[in-house]
Amino acid sequence: MTSSSAALRASGLSKEFRGFRAVSAVDLEVAAGSVHALVGPNGAGKTTLFNLLTGFLKPTTGTITVFGEDVTGLQPEQIAHKGVARSFQITSLFENLNPREHVELALQSRTRQGRKFWRSEKLLGRFTGRASELLDLVGLAELAEKPAGLLAYGQKRALEMAIVLALEPKVLLLDEPTAGMGIEDVHRTIELVRRIAEGRTVVFVDHNMHVVGSLADRVTVLQQGKVLAEGTYDEVRTDPRVITAYLGE
Ligand code: ADP
Repeated sequence: MTSSSAALRASGLSKEFRGFRAVSAVDLEVAAGSVHALVGPNGAGKTTLFNLLTGFLKPTTGTITVFGEDVTGLQPEQIAHKGVARSFQITSLFENLNPREHVELALQSRTRQGRKFWRSEKLLGRFTGRASELLDLVGLAELAEKPAGLLAYGQKRALEMAIVLALEPKVLLLDEPTAGMGIEDVHRTIELVRRIAEGRTVVFVDHNMHVVGSLADRVTVLQQGKVLAEGTYDEVRTDPRVITAYLGE
């Protein structure tokens, strides 16, 4: 793979917290248009790596590029501007606003005009079509007018996905998209991520190996801040080092 085909690339990336290396000399290459999973035991450095890739933490050493452009040390908003968006595990919805209003606000926030005139009805109208498309994509078309506070857990997670998609990201980072979900919501989320991945690059962290195996083109396994293995799901799951790491020997 050449660097030009990489949507996201980290080279020699490290993060130290008072001398403790949470992420240690990580090389990561995410091909444009691919779905890439990050897995590893608790404390392996997955969250820290996500925070580095999105500018929420500054690396101690190493570089990050987005479609070949160096973004090392940029602020989160600047990295978002390059087309990288992330979802959080924590819900941050307004209980009294419905899904349509959430998505329309997210669409407006992208434009300078929108920030300036966000009460303008004309602008609201301008975003209605795209909001409907996104709500349809995440399976919330029928619930578009229901206050977010009344949505079920899986529906709230789907709405968060629509809000992140409103930023029209080229690279989407998903932090445990199936965390806390029952089997039906897990299956729905797998289908949703497949739809989202059409035309986008997706990097996700998930502990559910069924989810990883169903979605990921490539898997990077982290352990104690380092890359332990990288490959297809079948390659890494049969790797003796990975088996040992997961069995905690
Ligand atoms: P994971 O997401 O894989 O569970 P984390 O990235 O959260 O792993 O953590 C990796 C290691 O870095 C852990 O040992 C954790 O305690 C440590 N760590 C994470 N953030 C900080 C911080 N802000 N200060 C000190 N240590 C941290």
